[in-house]
Amino acid sequence: MKGAYGGINVHIVRKIYLTYRQPTALAAGDFLTCNIVYIVIFYGFGVLTLIWRTWGMFEMKLSEKLIKIQSSVTLALTSKAKSMLSAGENVVILAAGEPDFDTPQIVKFAAIKAIEDGLTRYTPAGGTKSIKEAICRKFTEDNDLDYDISEIAVSNGAKHSLYNVLQVICNPGDEVIIVSPYWLSYPEMIKLAGAEPKIIKTKPENGFKVKAKEIQSAINKNTRALILNSPSNPAGVVYEEKDLREIAEACLQAGIMIVSDEIYEKIIFDGRKHVSIASLSPEAREASIVINGVSKSYAMTGWRIGYMAGNKKIAGMVTTLQSHSTSNPCSISQAAAECALLSDLKKEMKYNCDEFEKRRNFLIKSLSESAGLKPFSPAGAFYLFCDISATGLNSLDFSEKLLEDKKVAVVPGRPFGMDSFVRISFAADMKTLEEGVRRIKEWFSH
Ligand code: PMP
Repeated sequence: MKGAYGGINVHIVRKIYLTYRQPTALAAGDFLTCNIVYIVIFYGFGVLTLIWRTWGMFEMKLSEKLIKIQSSVTLALTSKAKSMLSAGENVVILAAGEPDFDTPQIVKFAAIKAIEDGLTRYTPAGGTKSIKEAICRKFTEDNDLDYDISEIAVSNGAKHSLYNVLQVICNPGDEVIIVSPYWLSYPEMIKLAGAEPKIIKTKPENGFKVKAKEIQSAINKNTRALILNSPSNPAGVVYEEKDLREIAEACLQAGIMIVSDEIYEKIIFDGRKHVSIASLSPEAREASIVINGVSKSYAMTGWRIGYMAGNKKIAGMVTTLQSHSTSNPCSISQAAAECALLSDLKKEMKYNCDEFEKRRNFLIKSLSESAGLKPFSPAGAFYLFCDISATGLNSLDFSEKLLEDKKVAVVPGRPFGMDSFVRISFAADMKTLEEGVRRIKEWFSH
């Protein structure tokens, strides 16, 4: 560095300085000042150049695609609320995106057994043959859908399955239709696949449901797929068979694919039955990619097992993509998920579902009484999407104020495509919900 900057700079500066000051008259004090100036100029220049070059290097190397992607607001808010909690603050967290129940004991034993049996090595990238067989059995029993194991790919959670599928089916310039309010990861995943999200807005007065004719008008020559989510996050919308038939027809006519996210399949209320759009006809099955997993149904969010079922070529490409990115999902989690899928856990699942339904009823009843908050009654999943427009606040300000003033964490609706709504999770026990409601009501009464 000294050679590069010091030699030349010091030489030039010294010359200029001495010419200006007449070198023959240079006193000892001036000589010292002169040297300090050299050092400041020489090192200052060097350090600035280094900062500039390093900054430039980072700016050039970062992915433009990723710079446009927003981080998950739900995860960020939950972690902020949790860190407030661990700092000793009395926070009520109504932001969770996961069941508060424990993973069934039999599933935990299956994982321990897998470790003891030495199932601790790589498995095939798209999942073991036995978990794929268990998934096929689940589809036959629950959804009246027959798949071959070659049509299944197992990934690290349903989020990963969705990401992989979008990477496989999209090209730059493609559009993927999503229905607002949507799960906040859809638009970002679509952009990560190089495509563009095409958003259809829905209204609470229409049950937040998209109509077949709205899909038809949103379709153009670039449309590649529709993502449908039933039961949905954040509004808990459940599509009836009749709605699904019309939507399937619209997609089939236009020749677009249907990515059907059915992760909340088992959390469904008022005696409704989940219908998979893929099960409606052989043509609908052909056009659909079903996404599901064990996270929500079996309270297994941390185990990270999700899967896709659909076209054999797509399943194969998902597996190839995975083989060069994450490799197989955790071998022990696969064994645990296989156990969950094959065991008779109907009693546990019914208990969880009934509990969620009770909580929903409690929240709807108690929150409807508070002015300024209009909850939309969900038919499935475990969220209450509430209209806050009467407060005059946007969803970010509302959520921040509620957290600051009353230490209640809810999720703003903005990243779900609706800024005049917030999402309240009822994946929390009754005591927590009661306290949350008390604080929210108190906040509104001031
Ligand atoms: N789809 C929706 C609609 C979700 O809400 C979530 C999780 N919040 C997922 C997919 C992803 O689930 P997993 O934990 O299996 O990745």
